[in-house]
Amino acid sequence: MKNFVKPTLAAFVSLFFPKLCPGCMNPLFEKEKVICFDCQMSLPQTDHLWDFENVLWKKMNQLLKVERAVALLEFQKNSKVQSLLYHLKYKGQQEIGSFLGNWLVPELKKSNVFGGVDAVLPLPLHSKRLKQRGYNQVQLFSESLAKHLQIPLINDLVYRKKETRQLAKMGMSERWKEIDQAFALQQNKYYPAQHWLLVDDIITTGATISSCGNAILEACGGRISIVSLASRLS
Ligand SMILES: [Zn+2]
Repeated sequence: MKNFVKPTLAAFVSLFFPKLCPGCMNPLFEKEKVICFDCQMSLPQTDHLWDFENVLWKKMNQLLKVERAVALLEFQKNSKVQSLLYHLKYKGQQEIGSFLGNWLVPELKKSNVFGGVDAVLPLPLHSKRLKQRGYNQVQLFSESLAKHLQIPLINDLVYRKKETRQLAKMGMSERWKEIDQAFALQQNKYYPAQHWLLVDDIITTGATISSCGNAILEACGGRISIVSLASRLS
């Protein structure tokens, strides 16, 4: 009886409240688990996996010396990518992170762009923000990275000591002031110098990720590479 009731109830509920694709907001078909096939096929992947001296790498190297810099998707305003990131970050849809990981990380492994990287380090949220949101939006994607690259995921080295306001609404110089010294290393935590892979959901000016990278380099040394789910390319 139990086995019979459950799927029927689920089907009934999904008839009235179908799960929507966070990219285009159309109802998902049964086989589409997180994002619809149409969106998956049309999401704009960058060529960063193959072009190591790409625009993001050039931009980041003006702020912080990075070995590799990769954004997986191109970000544009009012796009499917923006909608995906919005649902990942603000609507509790963490599964978007693992979906993108399971889909894109095997490709990233094929290109060997992060060959030689020793540890994956998701950019931390401020503890207050983490409490409000309940999760770090890049955690599941970072776990997927660590699993496929077969390297450890480090969550306890760096933390956000400053609660920054929303950077998106600020001008350049205000943004830099806001993010400066925003990260610090956990006391009594130390990892030897190694090649760190920092993970963020979106890179706009690069201020946040370079501030985090600097904090790690100052305390532990080593080398930095970065990956983000998306970035503006121009
Ligand atoms: Zn869709």
